[in-house]
Amino acid sequence: MGEPRGFLKVKRQAAKYRPVCKRIKDFADVSILPSQEHSKEQSCRCMDCGTPFCHWGCPIGNYIPEWNDLVFRGHWEKAFHLLDGTNNLPEITGRVCPATCEYACVLGINDEPVTIRENELAIIEYAFRVGLIKPHPFRKRTGKKIAVVGSGPAGLSCADQLNKAGHLVVVFERDDKAGGILRYGIPDFKLEKWVLDRRLDILKKEGIEFVIGVNVGLDFQVSKLMKEFDAVCIAGGCRAPRDLEIEGRELKGIHFAMDYLVQANKRIAGEAIPDVKLIDAKNKRVVVIGGGDTGADCVGVAHRQGASCVVQIELLPKPAECRSHDYPWPKYPLLCKTTTSHEEGGIREWSVSTKKFSGENGQVKKLLCSRVAQETADREFEIEADLAILALGFVHPERNGLLKELNIELDAKGNVKTDQNYMTKVKGVFSAGDMHRGQSLIVWAISEGRKAAYYIDKYLMGETYLPKM
Ligand SMILES: Cc1cc2nc3c(=O)[nH]c(=O)nc-3n(C[C@H](O)[C@H](O)[C@H](O)COP(=O)(O)OP(=O)(O)OC[C@H]3O[C@@H](n4cnc5c(N)ncnc54)[C@H](O)[C@@H]3O)c2cc1C
Ligand code: SF4
Repeated sequence: MGEPRGFLKVKRQAAKYRPVCKRIKDFADVSILPSQEHSKEQSCRCMDCGTPFCHWGCPIGNYIPEWNDLVFRGHWEKAFHLLDGTNNLPEITGRVCPATCEYACVLGINDEPVTIRENELAIIEYAFRVGLIKPHPFRKRTGKKIAVVGSGPAGLSCADQLNKAGHLVVVFERDDKAGGILRYGIPDFKLEKWVLDRRLDILKKEGIEFVIGVNVGLDFQVSKLMKEFDAVCIAGGCRAPRDLEIEGRELKGIHFAMDYLVQANKRIAGEAIPDVKLIDAKNKRVVVIGGGDTGADCVGVAHRQGASCVVQIELLPKPAECRSHDYPWPKYPLLCKTTTSHEEGGIREWSVSTKKFSGENGQVKKLLCSRVAQETADREFEIEADLAILALGFVHPERNGLLKELNIELDAKGNVKTDQNYMTKVKGVFSAGDMHRGQSLIVWAISEGRKAAYYIDKYLMGETYLPKM
């Protein structure tokens, strides 16, 4: 702890965002990378607590007080090596993690928490800038071959760990590019795709093979998978969307959030979408149904596409602005989040239930809504809409193809069931990420990918030198 009174002298100053009037005109990252000096100053606020609750809040066990101290002292390279030991994708979590660690930071009890996520980003971007991150192809191989199905953060972390342990790793991905939701869910204004490509390039040069555009279970037989590989990790995500089965659902102009976001991301990457399939918000009145983060991403995309107005509605009541008794420190609280997309405009409404869609000539034109728990005559109201986006979350992993062919057992929530060693009932088949845990966060996907790799290595070799976290 280089500066014992740092937290008294320096106030939290989070990174700045580009002005709304400018950023709304493009899909580039909304945030501005803080200077090295700024991160150094902010890191001195860390109190190096005897019991660092930030650790408790971080699923991958990042050495937070240690690297905060190293950043403050200017030992950036050492900080990078510590960070690299626990996190396979710090340039991603440093940008889009909701920072559960910051909600658990001890300083947050009576002051604002340390800018942990931004300090992480400063370390990893320093490491890339000065060339500390170079591919290290593995020379001595174990002779074992492992298939990882899915190239989201869980699959990538699992593959990276197993490759480091000396195994030959093949990642199968059904999309035309690797990355999972990092590529095709999260919009570029939160995560520009060169950040992902930079990491994928390293993983490829280190010897991981990517087989793209292959849907395992449909295009690649499961029997072949089991025959050709010594172990398999299925990390296919949790993608079955929750639907809204009400009158008028069949009308044109009503789409699932992921269909909208995947297309929007593809268009930003320069891919042409045929007119008949195009979902575009230009000059349209847009309603996003679902008040969560996926809905917020849709709001940001709709504004950038030139929507004439955007309304986001949520069934649940408005959450509290600050911690309530139900969510005492250091728990991750359910708060009313104002994202950068909300700062850019639109209307938000809570406690609203959608009763029916109505339209003209087969195209949606209106939503009939009602205010939940309001007994007055005016509880019903209408919202005009040319485009309705369903951002109601995901119920469970998709079941056809891979899971069906493997005859995988599911848990009570419909996610893939494993034992405590991440192995499914099918011998040699492991699972990680949203497919195993249900829809969650990137940092949890990384944690699961690393743990599955640990148990796979142990299963194949009898012992493992990989970290358990
Ligand atoms: C719109 C959106 C925004 C989000 N934003 C954030 C955020 O800002 N911060 C955050 O922490 N979390 C965010 N999340 C959650 C986070 O992205 C997920 O928890 C995380 O990506 C899960 O990782 P995963 O590797 O388990 O699955 P995924 O990222 O879903 O990847 C699974 C991959 O497996 C592939 N696949 C599936 N089946 C097969 C098969 N049979 N053969 C070959 N490939 C297959 C899929 O195509 C996909 O590429 C967001 C989620 C969404 C939907
Ligand atoms: S809880 Fe906060 S102040 Fe304490 S060690 Fe962690 S980051 Fe530093």
